Parts: sequence; C-alpha cells; structure tokens
Amino acid sequence: MIIQSVRGTRDILPRLSEQFVRLETISRQQAALWGFGEIRTPTFESLSLFQRGIGDTTDIVEKEMYVFEDRGGRQLALRPEGTASAVRAYIEHHLHHEHKTMRLFYVGSMFRAERPQAGRYREFEQIGFEHFGDPSALADAELIMLAIKILMNFGIKQISLGVNSVGCANCREPFKNQLKESLRVIRDSLCEDCIRRYEKNPLRSLDCKICSSIVREAAPKFILCPECSEHHGRLFQFLNSNKIEFQEDSRLVRGLDYYTRTVYEIAVGGHGAQNAICGGGRYDRLVESLGGPPTPATGFAIGVDRAVEAVAATNSFHERSGPGLLCLVLADVQENTQTYALRLVQELRLKQIAVTHSGPEDSMKSQLRQASKAGANFALIIGEQETMNQTAILKNLITGDQASIGYNDIEKALKQST
Ligand code: AMP
Repeated sequence: MIIQSVRGTRDILPRLSEQFVRLETISRQQAALWGFGEIRTPTFESLSLFQRGIGDTTDIVEKEMYVFEDRGGRQLALRPEGTASAVRAYIEHHLHHEHKTMRLFYVGSMFRAERPQAGRYREFEQIGFEHFGDPSALADAELIMLAIKILMNFGIKQISLGVNSVGCANCREPFKNQLKESLRVIRDSLCEDCIRRYEKNPLRSLDCKICSSIVREAAPKFILCPECSEHHGRLFQFLNSNKIEFQEDSRLVRGLDYYTRTVYEIAVGGHGAQNAICGGGRYDRLVESLGGPPTPATGFAIGVDRAVEAVAATNSFHERSGPGLLCLVLADVQENTQTYALRLVQELRLKQIAVTHSGPEDSMKSQLRQASKAGANFALIIGEQETMNQTAILKNLITGDQASIGYNDIEKALKQST
C-alpha cells in the first residue's frame, strides 16, 4: 500500500515552493527596513501556553489543536499560531529589559485540525510581525501599512482591509451582558458550542462558524469607551492620511480571545471564508496574562499558503530575472566530454549562474525536452567536438537560436542574450 500525506497536509513542490521563498524574502527585506528582528521559536510548546494565551473557550483551543503527551508525561501542543510563542519568548528572555519597544517577526508552520478544504490546511505557514511596548494607534497603523506593503510587493493587487475595535475590558463587560440578553432570546437557534460558551465567553458566538450570522443580526451595538474610541479615531486618521483604503467592519471580532481595541483582516476578492490572507490586531493584556510585565503590543500574521494561492489566481507570478536556469546537454557519453562538462558547470555556478542537467544516457532530443520542462531558458550542448575545441553550443530554448562559443565567453554570451 502506498503511504500518502496526512489529510489536511500537503507537499509544496518546487514551483510553488519558489513562491513561498519569494514571499519570505520580501518579508525579510521589509522586516529589515522597518526594524524587525527574526525570532525562531519551537514548533511545540506547553499546552497551557495556548490555553492561557489564546483563550480556552476559543475554537482553536477547544477543537483544533494537536495535543500530545511526550514520554515524560508533559502536556504539549503543536503551535496553532505564533503570537503566544513570541510573547512567551519575550518574557522568558526578558526582552523588555533590552529596549522600551521590541519588534519581532517569525516565519513558520502552524497546525490546526480544521476541516480541510481549498485554502484551509492542517499545517500551514504564517509570517507574523509583533511590536511590543507601544500603546499608540500609530503602531497599529504602521503594522497595517507593513502588511499591505508586503502583500503588494508580492504581487497581490485587489486587497480589501476591514478594521474594527473590540474595545478593552471596560467597554466589553457591559456589551457582554447585553449580548447575553440577546442570545437568550435566540437560544433555540444556537449551536451546541454557543450554548455551552454562553456563560463563559458569549463573544465567541459573534464569529461562530455556524451561527455568527443570526447572532450578529441579534447583537446589540458595541459602544466603545472614550479612550478606546479616541484610539480608534486616531487609527482611522493615520490610515486616511496615508491613503490606505479600508472598510469599517463592526462585525469583525476574530477568533482569538487576546485582542484588545484594534482588529483587522486583509482579504482578496471580498471577505469570504477562505479569502482572508492576513489577520491582526492589538493585544495589550497578553504579555501580562502570561506572566510578564504590563506591555501593550500589536501584531499581524500573513497566511502564506493563501497569499501564494491569491497570486497564482491572478497569474502574476514574477518571472526570474537574469539568464534563469541553464541546462547542460551532453551529446555523447565519453569520459573526457563529461570531465570537461563538469569543470564548465562548476565554473558557471561559481559565477552565480544556475545550471542543471538531465541524464547523459538520454538522446539529445529528450535531454532538450527535459531542459524545457525543468524551466531552463538555455541549453549548453557539449559533444566530442566542443570538448576538443574547448567550446560549447549555447541554445536559446525559447527562440531556438544557437551558436558555438568559446569556453571563456559563455558568461558574456548568456548575459547578452537576456
Ligand atoms: P489567524 O492566526 O487565525 O489570525 O490567521 C491569520 C491568517 O493565517 C489567516 O488570514 C489565513 O490567511 C491564515 N490561516 C489561518 N488558518 C489557516 C488554515 N487552516 N489554512 C491556511 N491558512 C490559514
């Protein structure tokens, strides 16, 4: 029996993988420009980190985590998101002692046992940015601008940004009680989860996958306290003055308990179920609730799989610049031809020219066909004659043009033909 990848996981093959790397590279470039340092945290953590950090009545913690016990009897979980781990590391390494504000970013796999479908996987990649120590709306605006910058540079055009404020504990408490009143009226239409969470966390019903639409219909209007209202107004000002288009979306609550004030989501092609490619917001209480000093913080995570799929859907994958890939094609299998070819490709690689080759036992026609399939733009054909004369035939696989050139002129010829 053939063993296949586990449901909800997938292999990212070279062509797609290239796009993952491209987005990671763009993110790293922008991170350097915006003063963020990369952090790499473990793939698994203590289960309690996520229970306390994300909230034990969220979908992620209740139903979606990969939880296991290790040989030492420790309760562990594969990380379902990166913020809790970044906060744990921030506290554990006393990073607040180093700087008043701290900017960190990470790239890595996250794991959620959601029902798999297009754009929704059980292992997926996120690139996340976290900014600690700055309570201002300016920090929120800056992060939103960074997220948009990365996505635009990656080639995603039609993005829409939805922004909301979920307020602070002060404005949330009266809302919670009013919401409970409204939920009581529609109790018969609620799913089991919402009924169970009714006492402890009624807010989760607002983004319940089953009943959010009826709950939102019935929900009272959320009134921000004066401080949260001012913060929100400032954020809008910063976004407007930087010409960032957004929709105010009072329905946006997001699935994690730790958010305070600003929350946002960036989507492509409308805010449908799997259209969100980035989510973020402010989490001013999380550091403290995980045992650190009171530290305001704000951050976002880009869903790399979805961002890559969004670019693929618009066919705007960037072409490689420069000569691209060169494929060595051997016209005979003599040992001296192979020795010459090996020396040649090693030198080309030293000059940063990418070279691959197919099996020398195949016919020339088949080698050329494989070269095109591999995505090569040029083939370098070498046979007995070329070995003797220390030359090579450079064939443009797109136009079909070819010419014999001297060993030392290959690099120049390649550069001229691109
Ligand atoms: P979240 O951590 O839930 O705020 O999600 C941030 C982003 O990660 C989302 O906007 C998605 O692009 C992506 N994402 C979340 N869950 C999944 C999943 N199961 N599969 C693929 N991408 C996901």
